Amino acid sequence: LSPALRELKTEGVYVDLMTPEGVFIARGYHGHQNKGYGWVFTQDASMYLTTDFLRQLFSDAIGKRQKLFHDDETTAFRLFNGEGDHLGGVTVDLYNDCALVQWYSLGIYEHREKILDALEAVYPVKAIYQKKRFREGGKYMDADDFVRGERIEFPILVKENGVLFNVDLNDGPMTGIFLDQREVRQRIREQYSKGKTMLNAFSYTGAFSVYAALGGADQTTSVDLAKRSLPMTIAQFSANGIDFEAQEIRVMDVFNYFDYALKHALTYDLVVLDPPSFARSKKRVFSVQKDYVKLLEQALRLTNDGGVIVASTNYSGFDMKKFKQFIKRAFHNQHATYKILETYTQPEDFPYDVTFKESQYLKVVFIKKLS
Ligand code: SAH
Repeated sequence: LSPALRELKTEGVYVDLMTPEGVFIARGYHGHQNKGYGWVFTQDASMYLTTDFLRQLFSDAIGKRQKLFHDDETTAFRLFNGEGDHLGGVTVDLYNDCALVQWYSLGIYEHREKILDALEAVYPVKAIYQKKRFREGGKYMDADDFVRGERIEFPILVKENGVLFNVDLNDGPMTGIFLDQREVRQRIREQYSKGKTMLNAFSYTGAFSVYAALGGADQTTSVDLAKRSLPMTIAQFSANGIDFEAQEIRVMDVFNYFDYALKHALTYDLVVLDPPSFARSKKRVFSVQKDYVKLLEQALRLTNDGGVIVASTNYSGFDMKKFKQFIKRAFHNQHATYKILETYTQPEDFPYDVTFKESQYLKVVFIKKLS
């Protein structure tokens, strides 16, 4: 967008796409985010982002997720996934009877009241909290994310596949759990944990470790740089009756942990790698795009033969094919052989738009190290 156009402050306004002859094609809104300048939401010239229109979108989204709504063992999942549910720029997650709405542009935020009205009309919740994922006055986050309903005392306990997690919707950008990994966690518990030792790198609140411990892992080691990860991981273990003292929780840089483990000849049967797409620490800048091969190579040296690496990324800038090339290169560089056991992308409550391939951002590959 040219600076002159940006000056017009058109975030939120409707944009009609026309043929050169002036025939209506589609309507969108202007909302600048890293994915582009806005989203088309209809090909019907009579449609606008009215509460009625939005209610229909939400009730369609709920219709698609009936299985989850009826699953007593899972009380936290995504109700509305932006472009995958036909309106880009906004997502809605349910955590028990609380909703978390995330806004990805000022443009969609301009329409917030109608969106919240529509949500409440279709699915009454006790409280709505929000995260602004766009910059406003130079900053992203608000001090208070409460929007509507009753104020909730956090943390609350939610359930996922019967596993309990502490969640706080009013404590910075993250909630305590990443809902799009539900199926991967379940697989790890069912198939890859029994009798194994596990290293969970970039563990955050230790969700993968909790599932592994419940799946019968001999021991888990969770490594994350953030100081808060320690009490949060202890809380997630404890919520599920796991003795956290029998587990290893390390607050440190994953790359330093790799060095430490090598020096002490520590090796693992199961290694989970789930780094952020981009992170700046005191010593280094990590980017998935540039550093994933290196990350895999280092992890490989700590993985027992016959062991499994679960390589994950939510970076939308490359696809599964490219990710598998990274894997191939890392194993090649380390003179190791492997077999891909299974791959995962987003679960059904995180649908993507097939015409916009970046919306299929999640890539998880279960790799068996053969030798
Ligand atoms: N695997 C987690 C989510 C990871 S989010 C889960 O399943 O919930 C990314 C995490 O990486 C953050 O908690 C952040 O603190 C951590 N992190 C970023 N850079 C790191 C580094 N160099 N070493 C260790 N942790 C890092």
